[in-house]
Amino acid sequence: MSDSLQSGAFIIAGLLFILALAGLSKHETSRRGNILGSVGMGVALVVTVLATQLGVESGGEKVGGLPTWGLAAILAPMLVGAGIGVFRALRVEMTGMPQLIALFHSFVGLAAVLVGWVSYLEGAPEHNVGLHYGELFIGVFIGAVTFTGSIIAYLKLSAKMKSKPLALPHHNLINGAAVLAFIGLTVWFVILPADQHIGQGNTGLMLLSAMTVIALLLGLHLVAAIGGGDMPVVVSMLNSYSGWAAAAAGFTLGNDLLIITGALVGSSGAYLSYIMCKAMNRSFMGVIMGGFGSDGAVVGEAKDYGEHREITAPEVAELLKDSSSVVIAPGYGMAVAQAQSAVADLTAKLRARGVDVRFAIHPVAGRLPGHMNVLLAEAKVPYDIVFEMDEINDDFPDVDVVLVIGANDTVNPAALDDPSSPIAGMPVLHVWEAGQVIVFKRSMATGYAGVQNPLFFNENTAMLFGDAKVRVEDIIRAMA
Ligand code: NDP
Repeated sequence: MSDSLQSGAFIIAGLLFILALAGLSKHETSRRGNILGSVGMGVALVVTVLATQLGVESGGEKVGGLPTWGLAAILAPMLVGAGIGVFRALRVEMTGMPQLIALFHSFVGLAAVLVGWVSYLEGAPEHNVGLHYGELFIGVFIGAVTFTGSIIAYLKLSAKMKSKPLALPHHNLINGAAVLAFIGLTVWFVILPADQHIGQGNTGLMLLSAMTVIALLLGLHLVAAIGGGDMPVVVSMLNSYSGWAAAAAGFTLGNDLLIITGALVGSSGAYLSYIMCKAMNRSFMGVIMGGFGSDGAVVGEAKDYGEHREITAPEVAELLKDSSSVVIAPGYGMAVAQAQSAVADLTAKLRARGVDVRFAIHPVAGRLPGHMNVLLAEAKVPYDIVFEMDEINDDFPDVDVVLVIGANDTVNPAALDDPSSPIAGMPVLHVWEAGQVIVFKRSMATGYAGVQNPLFFNENTAMLFGDAKVRVEDIIRAMA
């Protein structure tokens, strides 16, 4: 395969990835964005496999190439991996997506570590040895942090590990010391004389091993120290780290497309983390260094907020019939109950009666950025009645009824009123300013951050207990 053909294909794939990102930034174009990204990845895979198999011709000289069995050696693990991927993706529930994505991030991190190690064990290139060792060392570091950080995120998101933050004494100092050790080891590794590197001496191997262990522990600590309410930022931060890990692997392998793709994922993930930080009122640097937010206090604390009031589905139906303006604030519970289609049916019924129905979407509602938007789009709720928090938060005083469907932390006034709360400072939907608030949930249990919600005890709040889908269907039946 000629060098220019490979470069041309890589440019096309890179452009398709950029168009994919642009498409994914809006509901209306997200499907197209996904398709463009998949086509780009298809082009990248085919060209990379062919180039590895056939070798690349540049200036009349051929570099690389494998015997015929090489193709089988590449395709066999690809097919096994793709098979496992398709199997998992087909079986995963929407509520299981965040942990699956965290697991995928961990694979990217592990791959970057393995690429770096294999490249080191293969020996140094003829030119730019210092640069090669520098990028290899940094790549292994980012990959190892991403790997263990993502495993902890996976465990926390799948509730296999408590979301309560690990609060080791001096945790910022521990993180800072690990980063300083990494910087020191990198300089040492890069300036180490060639005869102390692999094949000739063991110092290089020891430095790489020490750094890998430090990075693995740092990844564990960074994410373990983060409280449940702050997990969205962590997920997008790990997404960004996985991109940089891939870019670093691209440098090590000399693969331009991997560098471009990694940089795109890394920078868009960093920007998403920044937006998330703004949405959650957290400091960007605090997130990058981990351990921000909660200090582990107050989680699950049982304050006495008084009595809550219950309501039945037929009563809610009556209330809705008499309303002229209704806002629906969905949360993670709507995803668990798979209530989105029932909610869409209720919306259509109310709109047919002339009720103004709108949706209020908190930026971290659910367990994934855009989780609620995806569910509502799947249920064919019109985009023009779906509003982001900032667009609708001032309107609540003019709303007759708010239906809080499986949301909890994102509608918790303690974030504004209680400075000791783990979610203090996080902007929330001001649903309590509406005339009447109906909360759909199964019990008085806390949300993901483990914090009690005083909203449930307000005079204008009534609890509609039960599975959200069943209760919404009950309301639809009662309205008929
Ligand atoms: P929460 O997780 O705070 O609360 C969800 C509520 O849904 C629970 O209180 C639960 O109460 C209720 N629920 C669960 N199942 C059902 C059901 N079948 N029917 C009715 N209700 C149900 O949800 P929010 O969306 O308000 O907040 C999201 C939280 O997740 C935030 O803390 C956010 O920081 C965090 N997070 C968000 C991520 C993101 O990217 N969006 C990523 C990681 C974490 P009960 O058990 O009583 O039914």
